[in-house]
Amino acid sequence: MADDATALKADIAEELPGVISRQDLLERVAEYHPDLDEDRLGRAYDYAKEKHGVQARASGDPYYSHPVAVAALLAQIKLDDVTIIAGLLHDTIEDTDATHAEVAGLFGEDVADLVDGVTKLTQLEYRSEETKQAENFQKFILATINDIRVLLVKLADRVHNMRTIHHLNKADKRLRIARETMDIYAPLAHRVGLYHVASELEDLSFEQINPDARKAIQHRLTELSAENANDLERIRQDLIVLMEGEGIDCRIKGRRKQAYSIWRKLERKSISFRDVADIFAFRVIVGSVEDCYKVLGSVHSVWACLPDRFRDFISVPKPNGYKSLHTTVRASGNRRVELQIRTEDMDDSAERGVAAHWNYKNQAYGFDAESARAAGLDAEANLRSFSELLQDGAEPAEFLEHAKLEMYREHVFTFTPKGRLIVLPGGAMPLDFAYAVHTAVGDTCKGARINGELRPLRSELRNGDVVEVIRGSEPAPVAGWEAMTITGRARSAIRRLVRSRETREFRNLGVGLIDQAMRRHGIDPLDVKLEDIAERAGFDSLTAMALAVGRGRYQTADLIAEAFPGHATMPDAGARKLPIDDDNASLLVAGQDLTPGVTLHLAECCSPLPGDRIIGIQEPERGVVVHTISCARLTEFDDNPELWVDLRWTELAETGAVAVGRIRVTAANKQGVLATLCAAVAQANGNISRVETDARGADFIDLLFDIEVEDLKRLTQILAALRSLSVVDKAVREQEA
Ligand code: MN
Repeated sequence: MADDATALKADIAEELPGVISRQDLLERVAEYHPDLDEDRLGRAYDYAKEKHGVQARASGDPYYSHPVAVAALLAQIKLDDVTIIAGLLHDTIEDTDATHAEVAGLFGEDVADLVDGVTKLTQLEYRSEETKQAENFQKFILATINDIRVLLVKLADRVHNMRTIHHLNKADKRLRIARETMDIYAPLAHRVGLYHVASELEDLSFEQINPDARKAIQHRLTELSAENANDLERIRQDLIVLMEGEGIDCRIKGRRKQAYSIWRKLERKSISFRDVADIFAFRVIVGSVEDCYKVLGSVHSVWACLPDRFRDFISVPKPNGYKSLHTTVRASGNRRVELQIRTEDMDDSAERGVAAHWNYKNQAYGFDAESARAAGLDAEANLRSFSELLQDGAEPAEFLEHAKLEMYREHVFTFTPKGRLIVLPGGAMPLDFAYAVHTAVGDTCKGARINGELRPLRSELRNGDVVEVIRGSEPAPVAGWEAMTITGRARSAIRRLVRSRETREFRNLGVGLIDQAMRRHGIDPLDVKLEDIAERAGFDSLTAMALAVGRGRYQTADLIAEAFPGHATMPDAGARKLPIDDDNASLLVAGQDLTPGVTLHLAECCSPLPGDRIIGIQEPERGVVVHTISCARLTEFDDNPELWVDLRWTELAETGAVAVGRIRVTAANKQGVLATLCAAVAQANGNISRVETDARGADFIDLLFDIEVEDLKRLTQILAALRSLSVVDKAVREQEA
């Protein structure tokens, strides 16, 4: 049986041994290209030959045979001379001393731009080692190239490299290139409608990636065609007779299945080899659209069609412009046969893909609007940008199902210095990048170099940026850094980091407070184990106890009372000071109008201290509550002067009491801020009895400190010490509840 598809490939292959001559290439292009500037094309040929000089391919051929072969492939899909020349020169800027300016001067700006585009793609390729990100890489290519001819040159380059890949010695290199071809370039070829190129790339890659499977499938295919040779020849004859009977002029091509496409179906579906492979295919090529439907009608009238396999891509072309009728019938001998029915033009389109719509009369515009529209491509909308043209170009089942270029625009494609592609939402910043690379990288990110330059972490990343994360040895991000991220991953990681750091700080603070409290009660912390105290006080663990105390949910006084019953009521051994609480308030506060024996309470809203001017309010059922004279709550009692009681501190209070002052601090929400604040308080001779985090924003944290001091003067000193810290925005005596 004639096998035109294979024959076509053999035909191409025969052109390659040796080098295509200058004259040969000129003739091939002139054959289809009107007004070809033969001088320019010829000069480009000579230039490539001269620039690549003595460089050689792995095959031993002179290097320039490669760009010449690439140019010939581009001529085969009848591209314009600018593209052919770019094919000839595609490796000159990358591999020789040629420059953009020189190429532009000799061959024109458009040629130089195409060569530049190809060079950029090639450079990206070397950076991108991770083929599992192939889909992203495809998107990246589509989002960044602005001239589809760049892609066409790149595809031709890849076809020739794959055809000669067996010359490469290193197996791992062959495998890497084959995977990249399979994952990136074959789908892109599909996408631009170059089916032949796509299936050749697939087959050549398959040969490298899984040679045994390919061999096995080809062997079975050969067996199967031999088994069915008679049937197939009869079907072919039946078809010819049928067409002659209808008076339709046609060409019939036999199509042989590709080993790789069978393999893929076997991989994806649980079907047997025979189920996939016993559908043989013929292509019927006719003169007009009318004839396409005539062929379809007569075929269906003699053979039963399988309805679920009928497709009319003429009335509804594929998004990339593909047109044809597809039907599968049960032909002679109950043999399943697929028929593809199309016109010569459609066949040409199927072979040349987007290149079929190139218009040589309109060089500035590139694509022929009429032809593109006829192919179902929205010319007006698409002709300006080739990547836009591709936006709907996907065959949903084959490639990038959710493919919409707008979607890619919402992404930014960035790279690690080693070339790993990191796709982020548009607007992403270096921390998003760092966390996308790895949580550990994000956690220690303290800066970034973008394209080699040190840039602020607030910088928005752009397509193609190479981002180097500068890492420290310690976790760096603090809560405020959330504002420099847009990805959920970075945000939740920063929150997690902040939380765990906070927990650690509170735990340490708690341990410190417990330690202080024990000393005040005359207990040497070295004599006791904190674990034992935790157990005695009813905590599950030391950490739980330390956190409860550190976070201010549990008072050290209660802890001491619980864990050291004998010590709870002992006065502070060193200081001989009386803490002010409701029990001893009457010893410390006195007033002329104060009824003897009345219960005194110290107001929590303003926590009065010896030295403060104070006033009492008689509250029913409660006694007298002591406020500072400036307490805001006093306004509540303005209308009831009879409740007011004049009070003063006793001498004992002024000289020896320990009181609790409450301070509100607003500090930068930074790593270690709690430790800094506590150290400052301790240095100013204040004992922190309780800390409470009141509010924690991105940039600032509000803290309430209960600090034991002997008098107001001490508290003022502590306030001054806190205010002197660079992390402190504000430190005030808390006067309201
Ligand atoms: Mn090349």
